[in-house]
Amino acid sequence: MKSICCRNCNWVQHGFWDKDHNPLSRIVEDGLSEVLLSKEWIVVSSDWLRVSDIPFKAVRVFRSLRQRDDTEPTVINQPESALIEGERYEVEPRVYVACELRRRAKDIENMHWRTEKEWKEDNDESKANCPQCGTENLTCIS
Ligand SMILES: [Zn+2]
Repeated sequence: MKSICCRNCNWVQHGFWDKDHNPLSRIVEDGLSEVLLSKEWIVVSSDWLRVSDIPFKAVRVFRSLRQRDDTEPTVINQPESALIEGERYEVEPRVYVACELRRRAKDIENMHWRTEKEWKEDNDESKANCPQCGTENLTCIS
């Protein structure tokens, strides 16, 4: 995937879209329709929790430590500051889909050059300025 990077402020745009590869096609590819109808809670990573806007009270946290009597791990809710690598986090399917749609909507709003053609046209005409700092110090890497 090609990325556009600013050498001045480290702004990055990952990839471009086309008819078959865009946030809407990924909704199908990622099976969000099936997730929406699932009864199973979705296992998410701590990275997903950090980039989502999910309220932490909506997350089920499975402690990785066993109880003394070796019963199943306790399910508890913890404040956001308790986000710990290696814990198991689960999110209710509807909440997961809603978070994913909000995240993808932000991606759509913030995409600067939708296609590689748009990027090349602006770059060829020296109109490709960094959307964050305004410099012309952009590079496209593969
Ligand atoms: Zn910049």
